[in-house]
Amino acid sequence: MEENLERNTHKKVAIVTGASRGIGAEIVKTLSKNGYIVVLNYNKSKNLAEEIANNFANIYPFKANVSQYDEVKQLIDYSYNNFGHIDLLVNNAGIDFVKTINDTTLEDFDNILKTNLYSAFYTCKEVSKYMINQKSGHIINISSIWGITGASCEVAYSISKAGLDAMTKSLAKELGPSNIRVNSIAPGIIDTDMNSFLGEEEKKDLFAEIPLGRIGTTSEVAACVLFLENNPYITGQVLQVNGGWNI
Ligand code: NAP
Repeated sequence: MEENLERNTHKKVAIVTGASRGIGAEIVKTLSKNGYIVVLNYNKSKNLAEEIANNFANIYPFKANVSQYDEVKQLIDYSYNNFGHIDLLVNNAGIDFVKTINDTTLEDFDNILKTNLYSAFYTCKEVSKYMINQKSGHIINISSIWGITGASCEVAYSISKAGLDAMTKSLAKELGPSNIRVNSIAPGIIDTDMNSFLGEEEKKDLFAEIPLGRIGTTSEVAACVLFLENNPYITGQVLQVNGGWNI
């Protein structure tokens, strides 16, 4: 155990997966500013993870490829063993994939489901035993508008996100009696690397479909995490943050 870690801290302890960039990074910064200890999970972007940890308080970067069960187990055990409790898990890690079903290989399908959906099953399976034991906790799954409405040429991605929302609802029922809440946040289009492939014309067409007429920001998603954290009577819900794109 590292010397500077605060075992049995009175501060809330959160784990955020896929948090080196984009929405996850913003959630980590928001939680840090609100007094949480945060285990920042990353996979490839070590430098970005360390930069966040150097600039914000109480952030502990931990490398794990969340599509691998053994690595998830290490992430959850590291968090519990070092801080003595886990109050919030945010399953944010995810990758996008845009191809027709015919062009999607079985390997692609496997990769998307493992990264976006199996990963959350693995984290929930591991974290729930600690949360059940402590009789408290909150799990937030970052799903997507596409899990609700379905997206053309994003069958694998949409399945993975719908699966997350189903997991949210099932686990909210299963874990509620242990005082553990489970919610989803389903963003529309948010300004991150994930959408960097969109050209100016494509963006213009897209924004025309959104009642609020613009892309969302990572801080607007991070604010939803705090909102759900601060209301102990909300569980099993899918909170949409999409500028009215799906009403
Ligand atoms: P992003 O900017 O592309 O960042 C993705 C993050 O996921 C990175 O930090 C990356 O870490 C991490 N990641 C990817 N594979 C991983 C793995 N196997 N293990 C651990 N970490 C992994 O994405 P984003 O836009 O912030 O999206 C975050 C979440 O929001 C995703 O689940 C996405 O599906 C969802 N979402 C996004 C939008 C949007 O418009 N942006 C809309 C709806 C839902 P490394 O770089 O360290 O590998």
